Amino acid sequence: MPTAPVGFDLDMTLIDSQDAILGSFAGLAADTGVAIDPAGVRSRLGIKLQDELAHWFPPGEIDEAIRIYRVHYLTLLAPLTRVLPGAAQALTAVRAAGARAVVITAKAERAARLSLESVGLVPDELVPDAHGPEKAVVLKEIGATVYVGDTPADMAAAVAARARAVGVATGSFSAAELRAAGAADVLSSLTEFPLLYREIAI
Ligand SMILES: [Mg+2]
Repeated sequence: MPTAPVGFDLDMTLIDSQDAILGSFAGLAADTGVAIDPAGVRSRLGIKLQDELAHWFPPGEIDEAIRIYRVHYLTLLAPLTRVLPGAAQALTAVRAAGARAVVITAKAERAARLSLESVGLVPDELVPDAHGPEKAVVLKEIGATVYVGDTPADMAAAVAARARAVGVATGSFSAAELRAAGAADVLSSLTEFPLLYREIAI
């Protein structure tokens, strides 16, 4: 029987995209004259772009803000995206066990694909445009038994899908916050993932 797939969040789980994201919001603020507080953006990293923009723009201006943001992001992504420690090894550990590593992210497909390529990460599958409860739906559909992420919403999605919630404290949230949201394990970085996965792989 094949080993069940493992889901991974992207931003701040596999890659550090914070500088590219904050740089793009700074560019958007400069282009539009709308004041955007980077601390507010940072506190919500991992949600969909349109949902973050709704904090700063009225509904009728969001499409144009997305367009401007993406111009900046596609420019900044390659120089500013960094792979997080242990990310490649985590994907390798899953594959070595005969399972599929599936990236499930709120990022739009093009940005997600280019981000992965820019740091040389190659998952078995990419599911873009999914956040919160939408991640739970995907996890159930693919039959994942583990989801690895950096946010309380990621942990809640795993719990809702009856997958093991594995938190990694490389984003904006502490181990305590991830545990409170349902994390069964919290890693300080993905370098600890292969050892944990060997224990929990089913
Ligand atoms: Mg994330």
